[in-house]
Amino acid sequence: MIPTVLPTYTRAPMAFVSGEGSWLTAEDGSRYLDLGAGIAVNALGHANPELVAALTEQAQKLWHVSNLYRIPEQEQLAEQLIDKTFADTVFFTNSGTEACELAFKMARKYHYDKGAPRSEIIAFEGAFHGRSTAAIAASGAEKMVKGFGPLMPGFRQLPFGDHAALNASVTDQTCAVIIEPIQGEGGIRTLPDACLKGLRDLCDQHGALLIFDEVQCGMGRSGKLFAHEWAGITPDIMMVAKGIGGGFPLGAVLATEDAASGMTAGTHGSTYGGNPLACAVGAKVMEIVADDAFLAEVGRKGAMFQQGLASLVARHPAVYETVRGQGLILGLKCKLPNTEVVKANYAQHLLTVPAADNVIRLLPALNILEADIAEALARLDLAATSLEA
Ligand SMILES: *Cc1c(COP(=O)(O)O)cnc(C)c1O
Repeated sequence: MIPTVLPTYTRAPMAFVSGEGSWLTAEDGSRYLDLGAGIAVNALGHANPELVAALTEQAQKLWHVSNLYRIPEQEQLAEQLIDKTFADTVFFTNSGTEACELAFKMARKYHYDKGAPRSEIIAFEGAFHGRSTAAIAASGAEKMVKGFGPLMPGFRQLPFGDHAALNASVTDQTCAVIIEPIQGEGGIRTLPDACLKGLRDLCDQHGALLIFDEVQCGMGRSGKLFAHEWAGITPDIMMVAKGIGGGFPLGAVLATEDAASGMTAGTHGSTYGGNPLACAVGAKVMEIVADDAFLAEVGRKGAMFQQGLASLVARHPAVYETVRGQGLILGLKCKLPNTEVVKANYAQHLLTVPAADNVIRLLPALNILEADIAEALARLDLAATSLEA
């Protein structure tokens, strides 16, 4: 008999009833140290008092009105995002996948409205942009697309970091290039700054739009508000989600005025996107995260964590191979199957997240305490030792 909840997830058996900061309490009362943060979503930890206050204050006033009307909370969050980024305009969604849908529509409409339609969107192997029909077509990965054809046409995948393939593939027919500056699901693979710069030049040369998917690596996780800032270049369109809602469903597409020029009244919409509740929480998250002192702390804690992970890898060469990532988007490339390592961490009441390329991801709350980083390192060490036995 089919389970009551559609069985599309491979779930660990634990269930959690409450959380505080980087800690979760399970049904049996035991506590787990959370290095997954709901896959980079709980950017400010569980039950953050400032976010709880922002949510409950708005909940007592107004939840939803629809985009038939002006939504001041939406306008405020848009202003905060525009103030801190390349963007001139913002559309709010409820998820990263929805942001992906709009990014593609916006790119195609841009060229259509310029009088020279282009459909081809170039993506990269190992990428993850969501689970909609367009997002899986962009990824092209067999495990995501098999059985769901015919796929949405117009997508093409290039090997990650293959400059020759890229130079040969981006032409005057290219509509857009989409890339995660740091691949999340793909195994915490960082695109070198020089490659991002080269990609910007290539897109400019051919009039193609550059789309950054910062759903996972954005919102402070890399130690900058958005990961592409490290390279000193900007995209035309950017997808944001996960951390921006701090646990409340919220996503956004940021764009320049030019890139967004095709998206006129009636060309796109969302019933829930940008509702007052989500935007009130998002505004508080932005207020806290888009602060130089806060971001410097993410960088400092990330460097400290990474140093500890490097010595963990050195102590357990049979379990681990290397450390990846920057800030608090970190990965450990495993020698043993990553799913076994994640299970051994569960046994130490430590939550880590598997990724492709046999990596385990560490995506803790951005405000994780130093003491919790030390505790995490101790538990990772115990788990690795248990695997060597
Ligand atoms: C999670 C993720 C998405 C999809 O976001 P959802 O909110 O699950 O729809 C898209 N891109 C990247 C890089 C992601 O990590």
